[in-house]
Amino acid sequence: MNKRGHVLNAVLLSIGLGYVLDPSGDVSTFATIAEVFLPVVLGALFPDVDTAFGKHRKTLHNLPVLLLFLAHPIYHGGNLQWVWLGVLTHYVLDYLGSRRGIALFYPLSDTEYGFPSGVTTSSDRAEIVTVAITVFELAAIAVLVHVLPQYLPPEVTRALAESTALVA
Ligand SMILES: [Zn+2]
Repeated sequence: MNKRGHVLNAVLLSIGLGYVLDPSGDVSTFATIAEVFLPVVLGALFPDVDTAFGKHRKTLHNLPVLLLFLAHPIYHGGNLQWVWLGVLTHYVLDYLGSRRGIALFYPLSDTEYGFPSGVTTSSDRAEIVTVAITVFELAAIAVLVHVLPQYLPPEVTRALAESTALVA
């Protein structure tokens, strides 16, 4: 997916996340959106830095990089804790939405994994595919947060508790 697709995905995801975390629809929902917006957009733009150095779709498009963002203690506290979600949504969009796929296990393996739903980044359908994937992501997040919170990683549960406390 190209930069425009990743920004669209991150913006829609931030708005949806505000409503998933705080369904009231009042000021606290907008405060949640404001809190997650910048880190999610930054995270969503980060992986394609590997177009400038390293190997595109490999160097910054893999699970070890995501784990670094998820686990790194500097993101605890403050809204930079949401950068990992931007990185994750970038991977999901490249994996499900682009024909080429990404090297999930780089540097262990160069193999790029994609999904048959993918379209080329220049396709007319890229935007509708991006929106569809964002809706899918939000549904998955809503189920995890509201139905199956016990399956969320501890870092995420902590981040959720902190953001709920912030807007409460
Ligand atoms: Zn990418």
